[in-house]
Amino acid sequence: MTGTTTFPGRVTIPVERYAARIAAAQRIAADQGLAALLIGVGPDLRYLTGYAAMPLERLTMLVAPAASGARASLVVPRLEAMPARGCPAAAAGFIDLRTWEETESAHGLVADLVRDAAATRAASPGGRPPSLEVGVSDTLWASHLLRLQEVLPAGFGPASTVLRELRMVKDPEEIALLREAGAAADRVVDAIASGRLVGRTEADVAREVRERLLDEGHDTADFAIVASGPNGASPHHGASERVIGAGEPIVLDIGGPLGGYGSDTTRTIWVTGGDPSRGPDAAFLTAFAVLRRAHEAATAAVKPGATAESIDAAARDVIAAAGLGDLFIHRTGHGIGLEGHEDPYIVAGSGLRLKAGMAFSIEPGIYREGAWGMRLEDIIVCGTDGPDVLNRSALDLRVVAGV
Ligand code: ZN
Ligand code: ZN
Ligand code: ZN
Repeated sequence: MTGTTTFPGRVTIPVERYAARIAAAQRIAADQGLAALLIGVGPDLRYLTGYAAMPLERLTMLVAPAASGARASLVVPRLEAMPARGCPAAAAGFIDLRTWEETESAHGLVADLVRDAAATRAASPGGRPPSLEVGVSDTLWASHLLRLQEVLPAGFGPASTVLRELRMVKDPEEIALLREAGAAADRVVDAIASGRLVGRTEADVAREVRERLLDEGHDTADFAIVASGPNGASPHHGASERVIGAGEPIVLDIGGPLGGYGSDTTRTIWVTGGDPSRGPDAAFLTAFAVLRRAHEAATAAVKPGATAESIDAAARDVIAAAGLGDLFIHRTGHGIGLEGHEDPYIVAGSGLRLKAGMAFSIEPGIYREGAWGMRLEDIIVCGTDGPDVLNRSALDLRVVAGV
């Protein structure tokens, strides 16, 4: 995957956004006393430049001096110059391309760019002495970081202290892509729930999920959890060779990126095999009603200014009040965007205050080991006065024949 592919009718990120994002990152980095941001291949690079390069042993890196108006350079191996030049930020002339030859030291080149940036800043009127603290992107390979540390005597810290503030609050186009991804995943859930399930293996159903996600426009089908019967009690189960039987629940949790932005939705299905006597028992229905209320309470609590932990508590309190608190074994949600899991995390202990434009999952679950599991997951955007729910498929327990 290199550059960006365009789909007719699909929302794209306007090119000016990249200039604004780079400028904002440079400003925040300067405020934090950094000399530069060193952004390797990954979601931060895509966010700042639109360049979705493959992570490889050859170094590709955006070097963004922490000074307003200073030009950022995209360091790329010469053989990847073409896709790099085609990325939105480079094509629009917002950044300089600096290619390196096979026999050159790319890491040395980055070190030179950082030293130049620090020297320029120190020489500018009122400029502080160069601190030579740099921020590196979270997904930069350790092999690259270690080589940079050899050639660049500087303090190395995470660039995420700069970028999380920006990436957490989504632009309108990012929200539009998340919404499109959510709608596509909803259609897959509905198709799977209304198709044959009994007698098939989880893996077979997961294959169908992946195929349908791609057919619905996803870039890749990143995950397809099909957890039947007792497997449902393991939240990150995946899909096994277990054959789905009549009279048991399935936790279906699917998603992947569409236009770079992730879908992630979970619904719980009960398959009867067409035999009404194999419907859900009272204990399952009671627990599901609790789960449904917990999901609703957390969703309703979403508004600007609410803390992440208050959203988690809204779901957890409902489940705990029903005496099932021990069976809700994970946080309530995670942010989503260019990464499937990113800030903000909806978890106890996080005093982070929600802002309009933040996007995250709300996904309480109840897991009875050895018996069953259940989870409901929507992606929610914090709107200016409440939740904007991106997933629209029915939340009720889907009791289906599955034959
Ligand atoms: Zn998860
Ligand atoms: Zn999920
Ligand atoms: Zn999730």
